[in-house]
Parts: sequence; C-alpha cells; structure tokens
Amino acid sequence: MGERVNPIADLRYAATVPPVPAAATRASGALHDRRGRPLRDLRISVTDRCNFRCTYCMPKELFGASYAFLPQASLLSFEEITRTARLFVAHGVHKLRLTGGEPLLRKNVEQLIAQLAALRTPEGKPLDITLTTNGSLLARKAQALKDSGLQRVTVSLDALDDAVFRRMNDVDFPVAQVLEGIHVAQRVGLAPIKINMVVKKGTNDHEIVPLARHVREHFGPGVVLRFIEYMDVGASNGWRMDEVLPSAEVVARLDRAFGLQPLAAHTLGETAKRHAYRDGGGEIGVISSVTQAFCGDCNRARLSTEGKLFLCLFANQGHDLRALLRGQRDGRPYTDEDIAAAIGLVWAQREDRYSELRTQQTPAAQPGQPRVEMHYIGG
Ligand code: SF4
Repeated sequence: MGERVNPIADLRYAATVPPVPAAATRASGALHDRRGRPLRDLRISVTDRCNFRCTYCMPKELFGASYAFLPQASLLSFEEITRTARLFVAHGVHKLRLTGGEPLLRKNVEQLIAQLAALRTPEGKPLDITLTTNGSLLARKAQALKDSGLQRVTVSLDALDDAVFRRMNDVDFPVAQVLEGIHVAQRVGLAPIKINMVVKKGTNDHEIVPLARHVREHFGPGVVLRFIEYMDVGASNGWRMDEVLPSAEVVARLDRAFGLQPLAAHTLGETAKRHAYRDGGGEIGVISSVTQAFCGDCNRARLSTEGKLFLCLFANQGHDLRALLRGQRDGRPYTDEDIAAAIGLVWAQREDRYSELRTQQTPAAQPGQPRVEMHYIGG
C-alpha cells in the first residue's frame, strides 16, 4: 500500500503564544488548574523521530520515508529545555519524564539528563527523573544514562513472542534486543524499571499472561509490568472501541493465572492501578484511560519537541513557549519571571478531561482532524 498523503504535519504549528502578564509575579509552587489539580509532572519530548513504526502510534503508511520530521533548528536546545524545566519546577513540578518519539535517538541526551539532574525543587530536593524508551538502544546506553543522573526507566514492550513484537513495531526489530536492554538497565542499577504493554484486542492480548510470566521468572519483583488500554491518541491509528480490552479483563486473566490483590496508589495522580501477586512475586499495573478515566487528579503537562506546551494527551491546541524563550518584549528578552508567569496563567485556565468526556459515542479523530500525535508530545 503506497504512502498516504499526510495531513498531520501542519498540526505541529497549531499553537498560540501565551500572554505574559504585565507585572509578572514569582512562581509560588502552589499552582492549581480550574479543577483544583496541581502541576506536578512534566513530560518532555526531546525528539519527534523514532526507529520503530508502532501501528498504534506512528503507522508506516503515514510516517514513511517522505515524512518531514522537525528540522534540528526548530527543536529546543538542551539549555532551553533545562531553563523551561526549571520554571516548571518553580511551579511545583517534581517529576520529569523524557519521551519522544524515541528519546535515545536524540544525540547526547545524557548531557540533557545531567543538566536536569542538577535542578532542585524549591525545598532543595532532587527531582524524580525518568525516561520512556522502546528499548532498542537501551543495552548500549544504560550505563551512560545512569552515570548522567537518570534514576529509573520505562520500557515499551508490546509482546514476548518475537513475530508478534516485530509485527507491532513494524520495522522487524527483534524482541531479544529489548529484553537484553532491560537486563542491562537492571545490572547498571536503574530502578525501578517499568515495562509498558499497550494491549490491542485481537492483536496482542494473548501475550498478556506469557509476558507477565516472563517478567516474573526472568526479571523478578524489581520490574513492574503495566498494561495500557489501547487509546484513541492522535488522528492516525484508526482507533476502534472494539479493539480495546478493558483493564478489568486484563486483571481477571492475570488473577486466574497467578493470583492478584489490589494495592494502594504510591502518589496522587498516579496513572496506573496497582495489583500485587499474592505469592510475593512483585506487582503489575493497569492504565485504563478508556474504561476508568483518571482525569480527576491529572497533574501532567507535556512539552513538545519544539517547545509547545500541551495540557492533555488528547489536546488539539498548544501554547508556544519557544516564542517566549527566543522572543523579546520592548526590545529585551523575556525574563524567567515573565515565562513562569505565562506558564502559570496557562495552567490556571486548564479544564482538560478528555478521557472523562470520551464515551462510546465519541468518534475517533480522523486524519486531518486536529489532535496532537503521541510521537510528537510523548505518551
Ligand atoms: S485525558 Fe487528558 S486530562 Fe485526562 S488524564 Fe489524560 S492527559 Fe490528563
């Protein structure tokens, strides 16, 4: 099947420059949105490129050889990312997640991690810094990531069976290399390690129990396997509700196979519902954006590769922070206070709760309809 015309490219430019209050006040760390949700978690996409073509995220027929990825000059530099992160930390963020595309494709990403690892919360505490990767480069990079200050890592792994895995990443990448990457990450001391499996009914749901068994037997309790309900992110994956396997069914299958009991959340705003193996063999998580929406305490903001702030994974409009990072007012560059105040205003007006609003009737976004793509702002 030839490459389809890609209507998505121009969406990257759908953003407004956030207003900067005349008298910018210092960030207080006590920022809340219109639903009383604090700002605690910033997901930073460091590249829109990926070496996989997962069918539910970057289908090959849309993201083929002629797809125009963002030019280097339009990406935020490491210094711009670190400055922006510092301003979010002043507003109360204490968790940073590096995403992509595939973040390990960004050259010298370790240097960025070292810069971010030097940041401190207003109370002087280090930040919780993690990264989501497809694991393809993890075996090679794990030690350098650890040495640069990364504490833990999340690896996307949608199947144990090599043929199923290769079909889902659609670049014929072998599962063995990702499994090896997880072993190396464990050896160098990245912990805890989380494995995320997107469950697509009829495609890989038969892999739920085999992958859980493999993680229990080969990685042990230090590695937490999470199952993500297949979501209607972006406008290119042809999402259908009948391909969603509800998390309740995932839990039922694992309970029959291994025996599970519910666990309390670690923190407010945690996306996964936790369940422990009754035999002490560790725990699993389910992330149920479709059947059990968790917008009520969603404290996550997302920064795109070229500096656009998105307030929801399903947003269709961004806020252009790069314009402030690189722009001027009255002939002088915007100060940290200016940009922090602009961020504060944007968050204070936030009302997003797409997953709560999504129902059986909500039509999936069609190509050309504005909905930001996951590979552009990270999961
Ligand atoms: S749908 Fe949007 S508001 Fe709801 S949990 Fe996801 S990112 Fe947060």
